Parts: sequence; C-alpha cells; structure tokens
Amino acid sequence: MSTDYDIVILGAGPAGLTAGIYAARARRSVLVLDNGSVGGQMVLTEKVANYPGVTETSGRELSQVMAQQARSFGCEVKAFARVAEVDLTGDVKAVTLKNGTRVTTKAVIIASGGVPRKLGVEGEERFVGQGISFCATCDGEFFTGRPIAVIGGGNSALEESVSLSKYASRVTVIHEFDHFQAEAWAVAEARANDKISFLMNQRVLAFTGQSGLAAVRSADKETGAVTETLVDGCFVFIGYVPNSGAFEGQVKLNERGEVVTDEELRTSLPGVFAAGDVRHKRVRQITTAVADGTVAALSALEYLNELAA
Ligand SMILES: Cc1cc2nc3c(=O)[nH]c(=O)nc-3n(C[C@H](O)[C@H](O)[C@H](O)COP(=O)(O)OP(=O)(O)OC[C@H]3O[C@@H](n4cnc5c(N)ncnc54)[C@H](O)[C@@H]3O)c2cc1C
Repeated sequence: MSTDYDIVILGAGPAGLTAGIYAARARRSVLVLDNGSVGGQMVLTEKVANYPGVTETSGRELSQVMAQQARSFGCEVKAFARVAEVDLTGDVKAVTLKNGTRVTTKAVIIASGGVPRKLGVEGEERFVGQGISFCATCDGEFFTGRPIAVIGGGNSALEESVSLSKYASRVTVIHEFDHFQAEAWAVAEARANDKISFLMNQRVLAFTGQSGLAAVRSADKETGAVTETLVDGCFVFIGYVPNSGAFEGQVKLNERGEVVTDEELRTSLPGVFAAGDVRHKRVRQITTAVADGTVAALSALEYLNELAA
C-alpha cells in the first residue's frame, strides 16, 4: 500500500509537534499540518514558567524550538496549511487542503487542540495575555498579592477561585445566574474562603483599562445596576471548545465534542489517534499535551508495524 506519508498529524501545537518528533525519529515519513501558526495555544502565552527543564520562556519561543526539533529529524511541518477535508476511514486516509492539495497517509494523529470559550464582550480580545487569562495553573502566580476576578459558576470556576486565592489578594467571582452549576462541595469550599466574594446574576459588559486590565464592568441582570470590579487580572472559565468539527461523523466524540480515546490514544477508527487538548481529558497543559503526543506517536508506529506484518 503506497501513500504520500506514513503519518499525517493534524495540528502543530505541543501535542502534534511532540508526535512529529517521535514519529520522524523512528524514520517514518511524517507531515504536520496546521490551519494556523506553529505552536497552537502556546503562542498565546507570553510567559511559560511550568515546563520542566526550561526555567522560563515565551510560548512563541518554545513553539519554535519544538518545531525546529521535529524538523531536525526530518518531520515536515507546514503552518497555515488550511485543512479543508479529511477522510479517516479505510487503510488509506486522505487530507485535502483548501488549495486543492491532497495527501494520503496510513495513519493520522488528530492534535487539533481547542480554544477556551470566550465571552465576546468589549475589551476581551485586547486584554488576553494583558490581564485576561483562561488558565489558572499557567498564570495564577503572576497575580500574587493583586486583586483578580473569576468569571463562571461551574466546577472549574470555583475550584480555580480557591487555588487562585493562594496568590491573589482578593478574588471576586462574577457569575451570570443567582445560583452555581458547580457541585455542592466546590461551592462550599469557595464560600468558606474569606478571600473570595461573589457577584451574582451579572452580565459582563466590558473589560476596561489602559495598558493593562483595570476593571470588569458588569450589570445586574434584573436591576441593570452597573458594577465596576477593579482588578489586575481576570480568569474566564466558561467552558472549552475542542477543535473537532472536522472529524465529526468519523471518529467518536463525546457530548462535549471531545475525541474519545483509549489509554493508548487510539480513537474509534483504526489508524487514527488523538493527542492533546482535543481529546477527552481533565488536565490541559503543555506537559500533558506533550505526553499525549508521545503516546499517540508510539501507538501510531505500532499500528504501522502491524499493518506491514
Ligand atoms: C492563554 C493561555 C495560556 C496558557 N498558558 C499555559 C502555560 O503557561 N503552561 C501550560 O502548560 N499550558 C498553558 N496553556 C495551555 C496549553 O497551551 C494547552 O494545553 C496546549 O497548548 C494544548 O496543546 P495541543 O497541542 O493539544 O493543542 P493546541 O495548542 O490547541 O494546538 C492545536 C493546533 O491545531 C491547529 N488546528 C485546529 N484544527 C485543525 C485542523 N482541522 N487541522 C489542522 N490543524 C488544526 C490549531 O491551529 C492549533 O495550532 C495555556 C492556554 C491558554 C489559552
């Protein structure tokens, strides 16, 4: 069976690039395609301080080093490839780009990540990375001794409020309803924390500030009364959207649209694997994406060996 590549990896974030390193180093022909720039969500991070072995770097720099490392083993990495269509069924899989290029492959690793759900209000885009964050584990420490807000009312929002209270001087939880969606234990833990206060039944209107975030403006949904919560940082936890639309109807997705995998990161289709934030998992970090990339590549290599046997 002849194909253009042994493995095509969809997504050049940390999961995809790591899979590229392992697969290319095993002397397989490997192509990594990304709809956008190399690095995925890493490029949104100004400062990465929790990647072991690297005391501190920027997400952009880490992305470039990972891509360079993959290329050094012969892995092709193409950014802005604009994937139009994928056919994951059968022994020969195909990926078609918007420019009409069609590549065939024996195995595919889906590493298309996801995006944190956004509020879509004024100032949000402007202050991402300048006060607005979607990741407490990544950025919480930067707000040591400073006031912050957390937006959301689910488990993530309340759990992260408690963990952020270890750094922040004060945490204001701003939520759209008068009750929480989080489980009772998470609510109780947040309520018992005297650094955390709650602003309920609010519609967030805007994020304001000059060079950095200075306030969250919200309005009471019943009375319309406007509140300006003065903060240096704001963490938004209103859900996560996996980039899995292109694979819907082919591999099995769960109710949140995350790709379902087994322990070896095999999906419901033979020869198709998934790694990183796009799949069903609890912790979404660079380290966990990198670990997934390793496992998915090794599983894909095993699949190729079985195919040849
Ligand atoms: C603001 C922010 C700050 C963060 N800070 C940190 C931090 O400090 N430390 C940390 O450990 N983690 C941090 N994270 C989390 C971390 O960046 C992610 O967990 C990690 O990047 C996930 O890696 P991934 O490879 O699975 O997916 P992603 O990084 O999301 O990469 C997926 C790539 O796939 C591409 N893609 C999407 N659809 C397709 C398709 N159909 N075909 C081809 N390509 C496609 C996308 O363009 C993207 O480049 C942060 C996240 C955010 C949003």
